[in-house]
Amino acid sequence: MTGKTRGRGIAEGSAFMPLNACELEIDLFCHGLRVPEDVSLDGARGVSRTRAGLGSGLELAIPAGSRLKREIWVNAPVVEHFARLSPYRLAGGPAGYAIVDDRDASQYSVRLPLEPSWYPRLTSREVPMHRIGVLQGTYLAIYANPTCAFWSYSPPVNCKFCTTGQNVGPNESAVKTIQDVVETCWAAKNESGVTFVHLNGGFQGSRGLEFITPYVRAIKRQVGLLVGVQMSPEREFSGYDALIDAGVDHLSFCLELLDPQWFARICPGKARVHGQALYFSAMAHCINRMPYGAVSGEIIAGIEPVAKTLEAIDRITAMGAFPTVCIFRPTVGADMEEWPTPSYSEMRTVMEHVYQSCRRHWLPIGAAPNIEVSLVVNPDETALLAERTIGFYAYEAYRRFARVAAAAVFRRRMYPAA
Ligand code: SF4
Repeated sequence: MTGKTRGRGIAEGSAFMPLNACELEIDLFCHGLRVPEDVSLDGARGVSRTRAGLGSGLELAIPAGSRLKREIWVNAPVVEHFARLSPYRLAGGPAGYAIVDDRDASQYSVRLPLEPSWYPRLTSREVPMHRIGVLQGTYLAIYANPTCAFWSYSPPVNCKFCTTGQNVGPNESAVKTIQDVVETCWAAKNESGVTFVHLNGGFQGSRGLEFITPYVRAIKRQVGLLVGVQMSPEREFSGYDALIDAGVDHLSFCLELLDPQWFARICPGKARVHGQALYFSAMAHCINRMPYGAVSGEIIAGIEPVAKTLEAIDRITAMGAFPTVCIFRPTVGADMEEWPTPSYSEMRTVMEHVYQSCRRHWLPIGAAPNIEVSLVVNPDETALLAERTIGFYAYEAYRRFARVAAAAVFRRRMYPAA
């Protein structure tokens, strides 16, 4: 149960049932959140438009219940058109916030994480650190490479949901040196307790992996964080081998959509330059070289038919990767800005399937320490949606064991090597 204090939540098809923390997270992604002018956000993390533009919301942490002793982090859409029509409204103030569902006046207590004190600090090149990286949940997100090259085609062949081409430069530093990144990682580790930094880079021709590898090496040697890299796939797989040798802990591949026609329509650059097969073969190469559960396949739910999303989840888990599923957000400024948001009931079905599919393949989801991603429903959060069966309890026991067994390994990998 969440911090719901009274009344009843409304879930499509199951009216009057209170929402648990994961269900509320899904519904917030689908509906957004209204923030009335008289609600003070003093001290809270600002709304930042970075990376694919998905970080355009208000960061919230929803208590998942005293038994679970965890919070579910959500980057709730607040600036998009659809959020103005949301039944959800933020209430309260810095002394204590709640989300009110105006359909039935039910309330859920939430926490607004504070803006890190290191955000305005300057790197030695005099760049404010929040223009190098931002926290998204409990991890540090950095768009390290130059702007994704799909934006410089004429006409552009960018993914239609993306706004990276508008954000890199105006909202974050277009150039991020290794020293900028190392100094920002240090501040985030020391002052915000970050354990994981995610380096994202879009499409960089055949040079993206080569560009990012020295960043990974420097972070591993000088800072000691878990490092993830998300980049368009490259045909020369030796680039992945170099990255793995540099110490990368996680690699993710943004397939986005499984249906070939939807893929070509929404991701014209990816369809023209890569083709879907390359995503699977690059993923397979990395799965073979990395520990089980270290690779993920990222997809967007809420655009193609749900059956295809479920199929994509099954394909990814059958390979030995875990699925990262973004709920489609029609972000301001994106080509798909006017598209409708997905329905709660379909997205709940998708997330429930994430859990079942990970369970079927005994993926050790949630084993890494303190990685709460606010932009997506984390695979391990979907346990809150699962039916309580013997299989559920066996998998949960396995996940607990995996967490304990992996703790020493992660501790070692978070120790600076220099
Ligand atoms: S590959 Fe697509 S989603 Fe990624 S940065 Fe480029 S345009 Fe955006």
